[in-house]
Amino acid sequence: MDTWLVVVIVLVIISTVGYLICVRRFTCECGRRLKLLNVDRCPGCQRYYKKEGKSVRLLGPGAVEDSPVFVLPDSEIAFNPADWKWPPRCAVCGGPVECYEKVTRGRTTNTFMAGAMREVIKFTFGVPHCRAHSRGVEDGSADSLNIVGHTEGALRFRSYDYWMSFKRMNCHEA
Ligand SMILES: [Zn+2]
Ligand SMILES: [Zn+2]
Repeated sequence: MDTWLVVVIVLVIISTVGYLICVRRFTCECGRRLKLLNVDRCPGCQRYYKKEGKSVRLLGPGAVEDSPVFVLPDSEIAFNPADWKWPPRCAVCGGPVECYEKVTRGRTTNTFMAGAMREVIKFTFGVPHCRAHSRGVEDGSADSLNIVGHTEGALRFRSYDYWMSFKRMNCHEA
């Protein structure tokens, strides 16, 4: 039993030290204290920040990330992707539309009934891209990114500008 206790204590110390090395504490322009692991959104003012080595960069107009970090929660857009409007530009670089990339997503219905499973509905939609780019928009139902405050399903965008345009065209109240 004692050796197990030592093993557990050592593991706790290792993970704590690792966490402290990876996380950067940072004060947002709005005054909130944030813990940055990679890309995080300030829960106060919704600005996005990215940790780059020892510095922190504000992600704003023109930003295109390697992974889709800009989040649009399902609650802000129409349930059926057939009702979404896509800005007629490549979802990564903003160039001409030359193809549509198919994305499939599952959404659970919000009908809670005693003892019943929630129903999952599958949708497929096409995301405009130029020939040089792909994966500009992803379905965020697999929530693998470290973005604070979003456990619900969402669409995720690589391009800040495309994300903003899509929001302007589709959000109930932006
Ligand atoms: Zn803020
Ligand atoms: Zn492109």
